[in-house]
Amino acid sequence: MSARDWIDKDFYRELGVSSDASADEVKKAYRKLARELHPDANPGDAKAEARFKSVSEAYGVLSDTAKRKQYDEARRLFAGGGGFPGGFGQGGGFDVGDLFSRQQQAGGMGGLGDLLGGLFNRRAGGTASSATRPRRGEDVETDVRIDFTEAVQGATVPMRLSSPATCSTCAGSGARPGTSPRTCPNCAGAGLVTRNQGAFAFSEPCADCRGTGRIVDDPCPDCGGDGVSTKTRTLTIRIPAGVDDGQRIRLAGQGEPGRNNGPNGDLFVRVHVNPDPLFGRSGNNLTVTVPVTFPELALGTTLTVPTLDGKVTLKVPAGTASGRVLRAKGKGIARRDGQVGDLLITLQVAVPNNMDAAAREALEAYASKTAQHDPRADLNALVEKRST
Ligand SMILES: [Zn+2]
Ligand SMILES: [Zn+2]
Repeated sequence: MSARDWIDKDFYRELGVSSDASADEVKKAYRKLARELHPDANPGDAKAEARFKSVSEAYGVLSDTAKRKQYDEARRLFAGGGGFPGGFGQGGGFDVGDLFSRQQQAGGMGGLGDLLGGLFNRRAGGTASSATRPRRGEDVETDVRIDFTEAVQGATVPMRLSSPATCSTCAGSGARPGTSPRTCPNCAGAGLVTRNQGAFAFSEPCADCRGTGRIVDDPCPDCGGDGVSTKTRTLTIRIPAGVDDGQRIRLAGQGEPGRNNGPNGDLFVRVHVNPDPLFGRSGNNLTVTVPVTFPELALGTTLTVPTLDGKVTLKVPAGTASGRVLRAKGKGIARRDGQVGDLLITLQVAVPNNMDAAAREALEAYASKTAQHDPRADLNALVEKRST
């Protein structure tokens, strides 16, 4: 609702009370009307609903002492939308600034102060309006999906992007090529016109040029005079090595174009990384799980382990525990800033689910030979300790 609407409304009439009604009278009148007009009591009655809203709005202002005071003051000033009280303004000793400073002192009342702020914010002879002031373009966010290896090693990804951009046909002027916009004669290019009402001067966006200050007689066929058209751009995005899933990359100035020579917004590309069937990731480290047999761990072995760009040979010492993590230094993610992670290799015993008779026999022989060794001795000792 504009300030004008607000002031034009007669909240007293809405509630059917006089302008000097007491707070109690206001409340009584509201309760009675609210009961009568409540949507529950008038199902499907749009008129009653509208009245109910008006009455609620009126009560919202008149029941609040501070708001009611402001409303009364504004109504005195505007005197029913017509002329101003005689003598007021010229040497009347009242200044718009006065009204504002008082409202600011009252603090936090919002309401009229805010509404009038919008009405009074421009005085006669104002400078460029927000419509003609340079404005930064909006930021744009888009998504890109890349493979794990691309994320680790970095990649350049071509992207097609549909977004508003400065119209290339008219270079943003909005005028058909070969013509140019002319300065709006109504507002002399300011985008604002000043309306005098009594002692006050109000500025409002110029209706002739819709606040732009310029008139395009022959609009550009591609953008219809806006100077901005939706365009599909192909951008090549460099994704730095080591980018993580969900990370955003900022491309300065690649967002929406600014208006009135304002700077462009930025483009934010959110990177989604497809998981890799082989490698996982923990910060700058890569992880991989390598199945091994029990004899390999017990007797020791040499393993060939895949890395991102080849393989690495690792010695597994005899007596290595299952689940042990070995580290291949420098085989992780190499970031642009020089940080390099490692490849963390988890050894996991693979237990055969099907053995032939000979293998089974050999394993049973092994079991009986090692029956004295209790792998849970330490665990049991700890359990005992805990229970005592
Ligand atoms: Zn154009
Ligand atoms: Zn104009």
